[in-house]
Amino acid sequence: MEKLRCQVCGKVATDPATGRTPWIMTDTAFREIPGDSTGGLTSAPPTCWACVPEALATCPQLRVSSTVCTVARAEPAAVLADMFMPGPGRRAVPTGEYSVEVSLNDEALLPYALATQLIVQVHDLQPADQG
Ligand SMILES: [Zn+2]
Repeated sequence: MEKLRCQVCGKVATDPATGRTPWIMTDTAFREIPGDSTGGLTSAPPTCWACVPEALATCPQLRVSSTVCTVARAEPAAVLADMFMPGPGRRAVPTGEYSVEVSLNDEALLPYALATQLIVQVHDLQPADQG
């Protein structure tokens, strides 16, 4: 995710010709940030141009709602995490909260979070030219 590797083939997804990274955005895996009209948060990894057709054809979720976009850059912003609290004998006890979004700036919650997914903030998101 941090190296912007394609979720299908694992190669770096960034297009060397444009320096931009193709990214299939779905309603479920993308969220706008208030006040940021060209960026947003996503837990979905990018998809290289070579794999976009296969991804769209084979992933049921993408057939429901998806837009092929490109982004100028992306950086880690938060994690989805299962939450724990200190228990007896210094054991970590699950709080029962799962898939909680914890900002990487949240120093209070991060020590109790077991990350399961990285969320990145994408910048300069644009619809891809599908021609
Ligand atoms: Zn690929």
